[in-house]
Amino acid sequence: MQKRDLHIHTDFSDGHNTPEECVLTAIEKGLETVGISDHSFIDDYTYEPYWLKKDAEDEYKKTVFELKDKYKSKIKVLCGIEQDFYSHHPAKGYDYIIGSVHFLKTADGFFAVDENLEDMKSHIKFFDNDIYNFTDLYFETLSDVVEKTDCDIIGHFDLITKFNKGNVLFDEKNARYISGFRKAADKLLKYKKPFEINTSAVYRGFKTEPYPSNAIINYLKEGGAKFILSSDAHRKENIAALFEKTEI
Ligand SMILES: [Zn+2]
Ligand SMILES: [Zn+2]
Repeated sequence: MQKRDLHIHTDFSDGHNTPEECVLTAIEKGLETVGISDHSFIDDYTYEPYWLKKDAEDEYKKTVFELKDKYKSKIKVLCGIEQDFYSHHPAKGYDYIIGSVHFLKTADGFFAVDENLEDMKSHIKFFDNDIYNFTDLYFETLSDVVEKTDCDIIGHFDLITKFNKGNVLFDEKNARYISGFRKAADKLLKYKKPFEINTSAVYRGFKTEPYPSNAIINYLKEGGAKFILSSDAHRKENIAALFEKTEI
């Protein structure tokens, strides 16, 4: 089992536990490395509890860097950030950056792609009622995530499938969907950055396979991709969740 989890949220953004509680749980679970990676500040999104407050960034870094020292004999603590594609605030001074697309921007609005099924359905109107215009824009945006965020790890490649169990929103075997993810993969593979295999949608009951889907993983593997398992835990009990059952 991979003894490292670098994708964990705390109460500095939308997680439920303090960084120290997360570090202690990671020690209990026998991890060798734990990375805290709260959501970066996003100016365009008004739901404040979601991200790290702009004026809390120094405190966040100080807190996690202190834990690094405090627990250094038990575990390696890293201070990361999950940098959103639309964060204007650059990620500086972190041990690592996860680059993620959680929002899309169109002429008609700025909206989250992983909020809930109802919202996703209602957003189709921004795409001439063609869901594949939506999937195309998501993957086009994602294809620039390394350039935009300067990330070290590419986060949840197909986050848009969160509410797509049973292909209720779009068909993941549709030619346009496949060509969309392949174009993003082709571009991102050139950066030689690891792709996350993110177990969160599985332990939260949304999906039966992690992000990205097996079809995408296979395509990325053919292109020589490296992978890293992550839990994207928002509660300490989910740190390293399903790692023992997930092959990479
Ligand atoms: Zn994310
Ligand atoms: Zn996350």
